[in-house]
Amino acid sequence: MQQLLDGLIANRNLFYAIRLDGTFSYVKTRSVPRQVKPYPPLAEAVKNQSVFEMRQGRGTVAGFYCPPYVQGLNVPGYHLHFVTDDRRQGGHLLECGLQEGTVQMDSVREFHLTLPAGGDFARANLTADRKEELKKVESK
Ligand SMILES: [Zn+2]
Repeated sequence: MQQLLDGLIANRNLFYAIRLDGTFSYVKTRSVPRQVKPYPPLAEAVKNQSVFEMRQGRGTVAGFYCPPYVQGLNVPGYHLHFVTDDRRQGGHLLECGLQEGTVQMDSVREFHLTLPAGGDFARANLTADRKEELKKVESK
């Protein structure tokens, strides 16, 4: 599926919104439980994640492609979620086997970032480089 999407991205420096409705031989998703303050880093939060596997079914993959230069503000590459046609199962997409489907994609030339005025955000230490941590977490 990633090869299919890669072939549709004409400009890798833009953002893309993606929707793929299709039939899948296999889908693996994860969901992280609701977190409470003080919020842990993602690498800690995913230690309590639930992983769901589905074989042979229909559903929708939806998400974004973000260009490499967003590192630190967002996740470069694909960030996709999956939901079954009956909307009863889904999560953050980890793996899938696409059999057939219809892809809808649109390039996005805007990136809006709204920051909190103060509070916990003002006191948070956001200097840590989480690149390797994020890479590990996003590919599990
Ligand atoms: Zn996600």
